[in-house]
Amino acid sequence: MARTTPPRSVDIAAVFPELAPLARRTVRLHPRLGTPTARDSSVGGPLLWPADEPWPACTEPHPEDEPPVSPADVRLRRRLIDIGWAGGTRTAQEEAALKATYEGHPWSGEPNLLVPVAQLYARDVPGLPCPDGADLLQVLWCPLEHEPEWMPATRLVWRSSAEVGGVSAVQPEPADVSSHGQYVPEPCVLHPEVVTEYPSSLELEPGLASRIADWCEQEFTGKDPGYRSADEFRAYYQFELSVAPGWKVGGWGPWSFRDAWVMRCRACESVMNPLLTIGSGALDGSGWDPVEDRGADDDIGIQIGRSYNMQLYYCPVSFDHPHLEVMQ
Ligand SMILES: [Zn+2]
Ligand SMILES: [Zn+2]
Repeated sequence: MARTTPPRSVDIAAVFPELAPLARRTVRLHPRLGTPTARDSSVGGPLLWPADEPWPACTEPHPEDEPPVSPADVRLRRRLIDIGWAGGTRTAQEEAALKATYEGHPWSGEPNLLVPVAQLYARDVPGLPCPDGADLLQVLWCPLEHEPEWMPATRLVWRSSAEVGGVSAVQPEPADVSSHGQYVPEPCVLHPEVVTEYPSSLELEPGLASRIADWCEQEFTGKDPGYRSADEFRAYYQFELSVAPGWKVGGWGPWSFRDAWVMRCRACESVMNPLLTIGSGALDGSGWDPVEDRGADDDIGIQIGRSYNMQLYYCPVSFDHPHLEVMQ
């Protein structure tokens, strides 16, 4: 089933023509639980990984504050918690098993194998940034916390799908994952959809941001039951008219809890471009909810910070320059 973002309640660039040149295309990915194959675009699905290529691993240090758990612990925990959500009652044995999934195990001390986060074929994602000859972006991460942002460490692999001969049948799993299990995505199929975005208020010139807030307060007060106070109506552009929530490729950064800054490449100082936004769930009752998903749940197991986003940036000068990740 396709996913359809409703049109914005107003064409904000018609009201504020200064916004028109800032319009950017973004591809909302709309990951939903499913059974993708290695030949599909996916989140948390099997990767088209060459059988003769070693599976990548993380050798960075990890803050050892809480003992890690295994991916199997996380999956068992989710299944047992779902029993409660579905209105069932767990047996005493299931309660004990649920508790055990939090106990954890000693740190393996070995390089930690990475987890598939996203696999994007250019054919499915219009405008997917790719080096010449590549048509596939694979994003993996180490499902533990890393300094200084306290996030998983991501690895990007671009490849030509035609050049992958034998595909690895086994997708090895890490020994250690964060005890909260929030970095192990459930397998999801994607429903890419192109929408238009404008910069978050935090990225606009302050005078323009303030005129837009004034206008929104005047225009929308009393018109949208989801918004009540004057402050909320002043933030209407931020929440409803600028940046789409959730997983997406390209577009503008979902700045929310920290002041925006310009991402610069560590290798060449160039201003970097948004590549992929990894969300903590997009359905929130706002006007961005796809019409097919009203009242639905899009929990796929990922939580970035306090329901924030992780955004990955790439350098427009060279795909060989290191990418950047930031919590927004
Ligand atoms: Zn790591
Ligand atoms: Zn660069």
